[in-house]
Amino acid sequence: MYKPKGYKVERLNQKNIMQKAASLRGAAQHFITLDTGYFDLGEFVCYLLDNNDILFEMQIVEDELTQEEGIAIPSKNGIAMPDHVFNSLMDNQPRARFTVAHELGHLMLHEQKVYYLNGIDSWHHHEEDSEWQANMFAAHLLIDFEKAKNLKTADQIATQFGVSMEVAMIYMKNIKRM
Ligand SMILES: [Zn+2]
Repeated sequence: MYKPKGYKVERLNQKNIMQKAASLRGAAQHFITLDTGYFDLGEFVCYLLDNNDILFEMQIVEDELTQEEGIAIPSKNGIAMPDHVFNSLMDNQPRARFTVAHELGHLMLHEQKVYYLNGIDSWHHHEEDSEWQANMFAAHLLIDFEKAKNLKTADQIATQFGVSMEVAMIYMKNIKRM
């Protein structure tokens, strides 16, 4: 049985989440390489930093101010991330890319809808879990399903889409199930 990691939220299956990630990829198409499907999330975040009122608000905070890798702020429709995550994102490091994509997932999926039943300890289906949903969103934001279908190995997915091997391997399993 799945051990919930987040809060219980409105249930969404993989297909629902994939559609929402695809709509953001559509809005950000200028940052996606046409032939490979690679999403330049660093460039996209820089664009958001320069254009505060569009889509999402981005904020960089000093490392000392937070223990978190990234924080979604639904009331501002924005994300705060510490210096080191931003710097790693600019270096296109898979972990930072996934962290920021995950926080975007919380903004796109959870707005005000997070309800704190019994908090983290409540047992619920994984499709109702805020962390499972945000991770699924992050994977589908960074990885183009149509292009990934044609790839044979997790290694190829990791390289082509700039995700970690761990994420690529989980994704491969999911593709086979779809
Ligand atoms: Zn999260």
